[in-house]
Amino acid sequence: MIAATISGQDYFQQHVSFDISVELDDRAHTLSAYEKLTYTNNSPDTLEFIWFHLWPNAYKNDSTALAQQFLRLGSTRFKYTKEKDRGYIDSLDFLVDGIDAEWNFHKDWIDVVKVILPKPLIPGKNVIIETPFFVKLPKVISRLGHTGKHYEITQWYPKPAVYDKDGWHPMPYLNMGEFYSEFGSFDVRITLPKHYRIMATGDLVNSEEELAWLDSLAGVGDSLKRLSDKDFKKVINKLKKEQKKNTKQDKSDTGTDMIPVMKTVHFKQDRVHDFAWFADQYWIVNKGELWLKDSTRQVTLWSMYLPKNAEMWRSSVEYLHDSGYWYSRFYGNYPYNHITAVDGDMSAGGGMEYPNITVISRDRSKDLLEYVIMHEVGHNWFYGILGNNERDHTWLDEGLNEYSNIRYWEKKYSDRNNQFVIQDIIQNKLGVGKNFDIHLFHYLSIAAIAKSRDAQPLDISANKNFAYANYGQNYTRTAVMMRFLEHYLGEQKIDQIMQDFYDTWKFRHPQPEDLRYSFEKYLDEDISWFFENVFENTSYIDFSITKKGNTFSLTNSGTFNVPVEVGYYDKSGKEIKRSWVRTDKKTMTLEAPTNATSATIDPDQLMPDVERNNNSTSRGIKTHFIFDKPSYYDRDIFIVPWLFSYNTYNGFTPGLYVWEGFMPGYGKTSLGLNLMYDSKNNKPVGSLLALTKGSDQFSIFFPSVYRIKIGTMAGRRGLQLGFSGTIKKPLTKSPVTKINADLYYHHLNGNALDPDLYDPGDHNIVSLRFEKSWYPSIFKDYYVSVGIKMGDGFIKSSMNSRFTYRMTENIKTSLSAEAGSFLLSKNVPMQYRYYLSGTVDPEFEQLVIDRTGSSSDLKVLYNTYHGSGVRGIVLEDPLLST
Ligand SMILES: [Zn+2]
Repeated sequence: MIAATISGQDYFQQHVSFDISVELDDRAHTLSAYEKLTYTNNSPDTLEFIWFHLWPNAYKNDSTALAQQFLRLGSTRFKYTKEKDRGYIDSLDFLVDGIDAEWNFHKDWIDVVKVILPKPLIPGKNVIIETPFFVKLPKVISRLGHTGKHYEITQWYPKPAVYDKDGWHPMPYLNMGEFYSEFGSFDVRITLPKHYRIMATGDLVNSEEELAWLDSLAGVGDSLKRLSDKDFKKVINKLKKEQKKNTKQDKSDTGTDMIPVMKTVHFKQDRVHDFAWFADQYWIVNKGELWLKDSTRQVTLWSMYLPKNAEMWRSSVEYLHDSGYWYSRFYGNYPYNHITAVDGDMSAGGGMEYPNITVISRDRSKDLLEYVIMHEVGHNWFYGILGNNERDHTWLDEGLNEYSNIRYWEKKYSDRNNQFVIQDIIQNKLGVGKNFDIHLFHYLSIAAIAKSRDAQPLDISANKNFAYANYGQNYTRTAVMMRFLEHYLGEQKIDQIMQDFYDTWKFRHPQPEDLRYSFEKYLDEDISWFFENVFENTSYIDFSITKKGNTFSLTNSGTFNVPVEVGYYDKSGKEIKRSWVRTDKKTMTLEAPTNATSATIDPDQLMPDVERNNNSTSRGIKTHFIFDKPSYYDRDIFIVPWLFSYNTYNGFTPGLYVWEGFMPGYGKTSLGLNLMYDSKNNKPVGSLLALTKGSDQFSIFFPSVYRIKIGTMAGRRGLQLGFSGTIKKPLTKSPVTKINADLYYHHLNGNALDPDLYDPGDHNIVSLRFEKSWYPSIFKDYYVSVGIKMGDGFIKSSMNSRFTYRMTENIKTSLSAEAGSFLLSKNVPMQYRYYLSGTVDPEFEQLVIDRTGSSSDLKVLYNTYHGSGVRGIVLEDPLLST
């Protein structure tokens, strides 16, 4: 065991208490505010300045870190936001202990400023810093802003950056990548038009009238839930209509003659590191309560949602209750007085957490809504109470929180096999995806990316993630690995460790090593194998098991060596033994019971092995209708009815599509078989496709794939052997090179094909194609490709190039050039010639409705021609280039 460094040595944290008064103007969508804060220096250092975050400035112009991150990740959402929908913060005038203070913008970021202290702040002392500020609210594009007269007021006030043992942590606002803030207290007075429902971080104080009003709204809201479905719909429809009518009035009401009646609501909270508030005029209000385990304290639950989402939110108070209940049980009691979820109706999806309160976007199903509410409420523990640096160690809060989501779902929904419903009708009525569960989604997410050379370790700063998918691994990889570790260590042990971590670090800033220290404290074994592989490396798990005679062997083909659970089964399939195995060898012989006839690795599928189909020595066949959760340990055969395909020669060709593989966790080889019946000629037709992926890790190719396709359809019988490979540097988007090599054999039936376009008989073709693309920015890309096709008596070459430039949000110009010529043209089959109208898909790769020529005047309509050409003109010159 490694000598553990004592966690939290020399630990200190600063304290900030805020006093803010703010007024909302709901016509101009602006905030006018005054902030006064007391900053206490608990560090051993003397401070000459304090970094402040002015995050509303992130929405100011195209040069902010936020704007640039959107572009880097391929989104033009902010770029094309109109000036009037952008936002900023200004009117600042910092006073420090009553003295005018000098302040400067950060050299790179306009949403970070340095406030110079007129007098150095020595350890143990505090200063009072005050400033007015004005915020123009952007339209919601990330987290702060408004949608019409709906307000989401987050990351909105000047806020000191964290100063910890590593020094200052100034950071610009980002969409992908969260925050790090000092703990302290908030005393916030919000003035806004009287008819708004408003909820915020903290307890409502001195606001009896406001509370009474909310209670009366909750009375109405809660009575809705007791209505029959029919009456419920009726009431909701009425509310929706009212909202629509009023919203129209809001829009036409531009005059200044009507000054709204205002109110001031007052919120107070300590031991938090952020303050957010949300306001809307139309929310339906529900209220509930949660009694914590010690049953001496009651937590109030508020749920506020728009009439149009009322059906979805009907049980939202239950979700709040269960989240608060389970997290309190897992880790420690909720320490504040309310848990609130508000309907944000953002189009972007997901939700966002703030202390006590969370904003939730529109979701497609009740399970998704429950999932997001649980996740965001869970952030009260992992983010709110345990306030880690989310920007640098995203996995520490997102990952542990996501892991807790799996635990919650398993506790609550084990009786429905942890089922997760995204589309009720499709899953529960049609039965497609009926068995999707919480584990499937997490597993697919990590298995899909685990072996990619674009994978990155988790413990990097959020903005260093190459793509959203990599950022997402902070959630899923941590969650799945923690769930696996729980299975290995036992739930009791995990509870003990996590409760210790929570207790030691609540209302503080834990680091990754502090979590590890809590593990080391309670375990006899060295846990570095887990921490180093899961968080610091991109290693992946890939074990397999084989049986030869009576000998069972375990092979490790992965890069992450973990304890492996093996289950043994007798002839009747009954489990006779289960044990954990740990080995450093590539292959080891297992100690199996003598009557074992088969064995399976990880019988409960809790280990995220990237290739699960080699984890069992005995595989049955399991059939699924269209798609469902794969078993992996059996051969999963998916059967899709194939009803609507048609071409002129075969007529309608009903049949079945049967497939296996094609998804993460299923190894290298995938098969697709299309069995159909030709209703015109009364014979079977169809095709078989087999794909094998090349090695992800060692070849020069990024993904590469070998394929074999045989088939008979539309008057052609044939075979294709092919290879495709992509070459690019890891963690770059450009340039990308693609290579395609194919061998074709075609036998063409003269009776089935247009004699003007196809030469019947046998054709053997070699095809090579080389493509290269560059994406210098999301505004332009270039593409070139050269190809060559060789047959008996001809060599045909072609070249394509394209330049695309995006001028505005909706205008994209594309310039293409195509040239082709024959290097040898002794004997060019008709189907390989160039026509001014294009070419005719000689390899039968496309779905062409009519190749017979019997509807020749409708050639274009029947999609005979491909590639560039002047449509409608057919010339017989085989050497013509376009
Ligand atoms: Zn989260």
